Amino acid sequence: MPATAAEPGRTVHWLFGDQLGPHFLTPGEDGPGRDTPLLMIEARSVFRRRRFHRAKAHLVLSAMRHRAAELGDRMTYVRAGTYREGLERAAGGRPVTVHHPTSYAAARLVRSLPRVTVGPARGFLVPMADFAAWADGHGGKRLRQEDFYHWVRRGHGLLMDGEAPAGGQWNYDHDNRRPPPGGARTLPVPAPYRPREDGIDEEVRHDLDRWERDGDVSFVGRDGPRSFPATRTEARAALKRFLSHRLGTFGPYEDAVLAEDPVMSHSLLSSSLNLGLLDPAECVERAEAEWRAGRAPLGSVEGFVRQIAGWREYVWQLYWYFGEEYRRSNFLRHTAPLPGWWTELDADAVGARCLRTVLAQVRDTGWTHHIPRLMILGSHALQRGWDPAAVTDWFHRCFVDGYDWVMVPNVVGMSQYADGGRMTTKPYTSGGSYVNRMSDLCGPCRYRPGERTGEHACPYTAGYWAFLDRHRDRLARNQRIAQPVRQLERLADLAEVRRQERARGDAPP
Ligand code: FAD
Repeated sequence: MPATAAEPGRTVHWLFGDQLGPHFLTPGEDGPGRDTPLLMIEARSVFRRRRFHRAKAHLVLSAMRHRAAELGDRMTYVRAGTYREGLERAAGGRPVTVHHPTSYAAARLVRSLPRVTVGPARGFLVPMADFAAWADGHGGKRLRQEDFYHWVRRGHGLLMDGEAPAGGQWNYDHDNRRPPPGGARTLPVPAPYRPREDGIDEEVRHDLDRWERDGDVSFVGRDGPRSFPATRTEARAALKRFLSHRLGTFGPYEDAVLAEDPVMSHSLLSSSLNLGLLDPAECVERAEAEWRAGRAPLGSVEGFVRQIAGWREYVWQLYWYFGEEYRRSNFLRHTAPLPGWWTELDADAVGARCLRTVLAQVRDTGWTHHIPRLMILGSHALQRGWDPAAVTDWFHRCFVDGYDWVMVPNVVGMSQYADGGRMTTKPYTSGGSYVNRMSDLCGPCRYRPGERTGEHACPYTAGYWAFLDRHRDRLARNQRIAQPVRQLERLADLAEVRRQERARGDAPP
């Protein structure tokens, strides 16, 4: 008979809902033994606290329940009001081990509980202490993602030929980041993997409907069918399909946007990585193997490895390294609340085609790729001066892959420049011409990217100049953006831009 959490006296190992893959169970000094009883807690308080996207709530519950079913009698699965209550009920007075959770709130909770021993985090490439030593070694100088990425590649022998980067260079950005192929409405690549729902999904849907009916919780966004993996088998199938069909075109088009092809060559693996269904090491090692076997070009493989071993890892490390106060950064003193059409994902209220298209993707699926997040959603929020903490919370709730650790640096640092440049060298925002160059979104739009005032003024173009104007003193000191700030002096219609953008308020553009 396998051991269960109900057995008195024995240590129980607690798995959070984002610790679902086998790498959270491999025995070791810091992990559970081969047959240590396991515990998972489905805490309703998580859903009461925040208004999540329905597709995200579904995915997380489905993934947890699937994992519990796989682990059978070894697992005790508790449905409780709070974690504390669930732990008390299932583990009683027994010792509990747990791997380091992924948020400050959860880390504080596990440390505050009696008899709980917290082991190191798993699911990332670099131990936190190693990162802290690397970062401290910079003597207070700005940390650069590019340096960190080289360090990870060297340390893990990733895409390396001896001491040198494979192919002789670290970075293939000049081959990547092309606009979409002219005239194409979709990229000519096979469709991504999509899972099929089963009985567990049916039960989850039924529970969510009931909770909503009872007025216990409420959601935003549209419901299913579930389109992201909930099990390791599904996540491995998604990885395999990406590696064999879309990795080759990942690099060149990673920054391009097509209205009718939201996924293009992106991997759709973020939710699986963040649920712990996939280990980042297996993703990057298998991508490298594709190149070594001659099945994928180096530029694309390097671009993908950079996303996971570079950006994802860097974001995780900065979340902890910058400390809990970082989330409250507000360098630009932005305090405006998010308008209702935005929080309700009311894409139909929006006239600007780029924002309408992307907000509809979020409403319908809880996902859109990196450039829409950064240069359409985030850029609009930045230009309107919305409170960065509220923007972070919105991203966290509305995206299937959103967790505190990944949202705080990506939104506070990268997207809203609220940290004043600790993470990026300049604010990521642009006028409509960037969106026009990198997408097919502008063509039939009622607004024109080249116009800044008047009936057809593009809200991004006008918003960009108004943003620079509002912050010209702060931004003039930043070499990377000083030149457009100087250009403000030459804008003959600046007074009209100011008036127009003030009048826009928080109405949907
Ligand atoms: P791909 O384009 O195929 O990239 C491969 C993988 O790289 C992703 O699956 C992801 O795991 C990783 N990755 C790439 N960039 C980042 C990054 N900046 N931070 C973390 N991981 C990265 N990513 C999340 O996983 N969760 C989030 O909540 C999230 N919020 C974001 C919010 C904003 C404002 C911005 C600008 C970016 C955010 N990202 C987030 C990063 C990135 O947009 C998503 O990881 C990516 O779009 C997910 O789609 P994909 O799996 O197809 O990624």
